[in-house]
Amino acid sequence: MIITKKKSFSKILECLQERGQIYLFGCNSCAEQCETGGEREVKEMVALLEKQGKKVTGSSIPDETCYSMLIKKHFRENKEAIAETDAFLVLACGAGVKAVADAAGDAQPVFPALDSLYLANVTRYGHFFEGCSLCGDCVLGETGGICPHTLCPKGLLNGPCGGMANGKCEVNMENDCVWIVIYRRLKAQGRLDVLKKIAPPKDYSNSIKPRMLVVESRAKK
Ligand code: SF4
Ligand code: SF4
Repeated sequence: MIITKKKSFSKILECLQERGQIYLFGCNSCAEQCETGGEREVKEMVALLEKQGKKVTGSSIPDETCYSMLIKKHFRENKEAIAETDAFLVLACGAGVKAVADAAGDAQPVFPALDSLYLANVTRYGHFFEGCSLCGDCVLGETGGICPHTLCPKGLLNGPCGGMANGKCEVNMENDCVWIVIYRRLKAQGRLDVLKKIAPPKDYSNSIKPRMLVVESRAKK
């Protein structure tokens, strides 16, 4: 899931400036779980904006705000309120903001209320951990399912570096060096021979942006 954090309200007001008729979008998926864009946060935002003299023309909390088709449906279903709107404020990740901006078209401005941070595993309810940076060239088969590109602050694909001390990372001594964690896991699997191979430099051509995917079998439906 995508982790988000709230922007400060003063920054949001700065973006909205003279805009007085605001329509809000939340997100009932990742942002709801981060407590940044669910029903409660949308209600809180409505109250804050109204206190500043803004009119909230309406709000939607789609199941997934990154789902562009769903956003278009919300636009159709709320067209009267949206016709009175002079700006949208989106409490969702950047993909959600883009989906709303595309549906709004060129004339109506769209502003993010959140900052998008990273892709995370949910380790426990309310606990999130960054485990993958979506590099497009996955090496986890050689690293025991642990990502050095993400978990080593230097992104080293051959480690550990010379700064590792007593199994800890020189960048943050609170953390285990990820290469020691990888070593222990591969040892437990009887696969230490994997570490004898020097990993080649990452192929960044796999992550040239923007990336796009069409799943042909689904696209035909
Ligand atoms: S190697 Fe790349 S794709 Fe694989 S987990 Fe790490 S960042 Fe994600
Ligand atoms: S100590 Fe380990 S995790 Fe930290 S920067 Fe060096 S190789 Fe990366």
